Amino acid sequence: MKRKRGRVKWVGVTACALLLCAWIGTFWSALGYQFPTVVVDLSVGCFEVSVYPQGMPMQGWFAAWQPYEVYWLPTLIRGRFITSRTTHVFVPLWIPLLFVGAATILAFRHDWLFAPGHCQTCGYDLRGAEHEVCPECGVEV
Ligand SMILES: [Zn+2]
Repeated sequence: MKRKRGRVKWVGVTACALLLCAWIGTFWSALGYQFPTVVVDLSVGCFEVSVYPQGMPMQGWFAAWQPYEVYWLPTLIRGRFITSRTTHVFVPLWIPLLFVGAATILAFRHDWLFAPGHCQTCGYDLRGAEHEVCPECGVEV
């Protein structure tokens, strides 16, 4: 249990670092994959899904370096971008970063409260005496 939580924490920290790098990095770069009519990529500070009903001229991975206009908010663009009849959905990467960051902070906070020999609910120090319930919060030990 303890070990599992430890792993969750470091996965969280790693995910935060990757998301932060991806977010900042895509202010100047784009990286994605082109399917026949759908493009999935990281660019303009967002995770982007684009639909090209007329089909893409190429398929496969693509990358580009250039300063882009950054989208700070979730954005839906239809039919007036690159070519007509396309749909672009932009999800800014700070949104998953916020969730993963909050979850990671909670995982760390848990760890401080759940120190060995302390109440698993309130963190009261239970060492030195036998308790059936926590004298601080009344939860069964
Ligand atoms: Zn307690």
